[in-house]
Amino acid sequence: MDKIKELTKGKAKSLFSTADNEKLVMHFSDDTSAFDGKKKEALLGKGAVNNQFNAFIMDHLAENGVETHHIEVLNSNDSLVWSLKMFPIECVIRNRASGSICRRLGTEDGLILENPLFEFFLKDDDLGDPLINDEHIISFGWATKEQIDEMKKLTYKVNSILTELFIKSNLILVDFKVEFGVCSQGKILLADEFTPDGCRLWDSETLKKMDKDRFRQGLGDVVESYHQVADRLGMNIIVD
Ligand code: ADP
Ligand code: UDP
Repeated sequence: MDKIKELTKGKAKSLFSTADNEKLVMHFSDDTSAFDGKKKEALLGKGAVNNQFNAFIMDHLAENGVETHHIEVLNSNDSLVWSLKMFPIECVIRNRASGSICRRLGTEDGLILENPLFEFFLKDDDLGDPLINDEHIISFGWATKEQIDEMKKLTYKVNSILTELFIKSNLILVDFKVEFGVCSQGKILLADEFTPDGCRLWDSETLKKMDKDRFRQGLGDVVESYHQVADRLGMNIIVD
């Protein structure tokens, strides 16, 4: 399916219209950003590894009962997805404390949480993606109570499925962010991406960081680490 027109260009991906108005092409670029877009760099080959990594994870989730927007991989950097009406919110689950929760609550990096912790954030770079709760979402009309419950249920399910998948490859899923949207039939589908750009993955023995924290913290070997994770999971990433 050919790309017709670029509809949106985000910090890491672009969406293109296609001849079918229910389908979009999602292009994964090499652009990498952190701190709400304040740190930016193009990392050669990141778009290709993320596109194919995302497809592998989305397929695995679908096989395990989570419906997603992913239809098929088109080429190294592009995938076909269902066009959705996105919720302007991010769903995060943390199995260990890291990143913003440590700054917010003074927690030590890596603390194992008693229970997976669910958090909502508003998608708004200008405001620094603030933490919000169910009451904000309902009062501002971003989603209904039923939609909130469904997003939470699906995010917990993603956490169980992927925690199990990663641990088999000696990787700890520390935390992750996912986004959801509504399809033309009114169903909530997992959308956007699941890649090392949007989650934290640590080697289970050494606790080495293998995700976008390598970019945030200037640790180097960002794309190399994404490939190492893909290799461990048995993915066959094609590099053009
Ligand atoms: P950002 O918007 O944060 O800069 P990206 O560069 O990742 O992020 O851009 C991807 C955009 O596409 C996001 O705004 C995301 O909400 C949106 N999106 C993801 N999946 C879909 C979909 N299936 N239909 C419509 N929009 C989508
Ligand atoms: N995350 C993301 N996009 C965002 C904010 C967070 O993908 O705009 C991911 C991030 O990579 C991590 C998890 O969500 O895996 C929790 O992020 P956190 O709130 O700790 O924010 P950070 O300190 O990473 O900015």
